[in-house]
Amino acid sequence: MDYVSTRGSAPALDFQGVTLAGLASDGGLYVPREWPRFTEAEIAAMAGLPYAELAARVMQPFVGDSLSPDCLLDLARQAYGRFAHVAVTPLVQLDERQWVLELFHGPTLAFKDVALQLLGLLFEEFLARGDEHITIVGATSGDTGSAAIDAVAGRAKVDIFMLHPQGRVSDVQRRQMTTVLAPNVHNIAIDGSFDDAQAMVKRMFADTAMTGRFAISAVNSINWARLMAQVVYYFASALQLGAPHRKVAFSVPTGNFGDVFAGYVAAKMGLPIERLIVATNVNDILHRALLTGDYSAGTVTPTAAPSMDIQVSSNFERLLFDVGGRDGAALAEQMRGFEAKKAMQLTNAQREGAAALFTSARADAGDMQQAMRWAYEETGQVLDPHTAIGLHAARAAEGLPADVPVVTLATAHPAKFVDAVERATGFRPPLPARVGDLFEREERFDELPGDYDAVAAYIAERATPRGG
Ligand SMILES: *Cc1c(COP(=O)(O)O)cnc(C)c1O
Repeated sequence: MDYVSTRGSAPALDFQGVTLAGLASDGGLYVPREWPRFTEAEIAAMAGLPYAELAARVMQPFVGDSLSPDCLLDLARQAYGRFAHVAVTPLVQLDERQWVLELFHGPTLAFKDVALQLLGLLFEEFLARGDEHITIVGATSGDTGSAAIDAVAGRAKVDIFMLHPQGRVSDVQRRQMTTVLAPNVHNIAIDGSFDDAQAMVKRMFADTAMTGRFAISAVNSINWARLMAQVVYYFASALQLGAPHRKVAFSVPTGNFGDVFAGYVAAKMGLPIERLIVATNVNDILHRALLTGDYSAGTVTPTAAPSMDIQVSSNFERLLFDVGGRDGAALAEQMRGFEAKKAMQLTNAQREGAAALFTSARADAGDMQQAMRWAYEETGQVLDPHTAIGLHAARAAEGLPADVPVVTLATAHPAKFVDAVERATGFRPPLPARVGDLFEREERFDELPGDYDAVAAYIAERATPRGG
């Protein structure tokens, strides 16, 4: 399997290459040259497999020759063995139609662990084959940072620099990053928004002064391997609900469009998905884009669901590429326009292609609290604010056939957002024992202005150069 850039001019790479590279050198994102497809019989044969075995089977076509089937299965077993639930991603029923897929049983209590635990192992495996040293540079709206840091802390041949918007992540989220004191972990609090931090990271990938000296890599969902790992739980849950003989819809609390794009990939691979519901909070660029074709970034409004406080959704580019005819040169032009004006119009092909599978809904604070309260009072299920936004969108969805179940992806453990949960339900969910003494541990991070040159200089001083 090889991978091409959405902007058409970066070299094609194999799976090992895209995993280590993250973003493409032309500013685009890597996607498989074509979608592998399972037959109905192949999907039916996956029912009942343990999670790690299902993961290896779903991911093998993307991995190609980069890993043997035995090695891939071994890595999947290691990654998912660290989860606190033997089912890894248990599915919970709320009512006749509504289901919740709990993706937060990993070490840092958000769904990002599902992909990043595996990615940390993939980095280690691939780096052991050569003498490259990599410098991971990432921006986080909260959960990616902690999950990535947990996955690579203390690993040889990897340094990680994680930018978070100062004061805009929850205390639990911040402490999960800043209390990891391993010498290869560098936390940076940026004076700015998540979008500012993400823009700096993207700029660094295109900055040859930096990429010439350091092998810079990404753990944001621009890294293909992350999306690949997320495809697995769409299969796991749909199989439990009767796929391939029954269609399933998913509602996905969305920020950077990575998680819901993994659902699109599952559909491309043959999983019968009726609909993907993109749930946003008041930072609703995706809702507007899907509804009207107007993709224009506003300013970010901080909410109780900070991982969705995003106005520029990087992975949306992958969808625009795929539904827009896979024309890298045309998309590069379109994205240059967007980067200059912070606004663009989708083409008709892009709009129609997206509308074939996606709908969207926007939830304000009241909608979110109401969904959280309904789940708590009617079913006893405690939801975090992101998941509650997903459930609001799932319950508001219109026009679904009567026999189609709707699975809301539960992206974070409610204890990560304890104040918002208590405000809506009166219940204060305790942190699971495995997170232990988070609030007693020492924190370490540096504060920097929202200025690219300052961040680049900080990293250049501390990172290990190529081959070093
Ligand atoms: C990252 C995250 C999201 C958004 O996921 P994307 O893949 O960026 O769309 C939603 N909820 C939580 C809790 C998250 O951590």
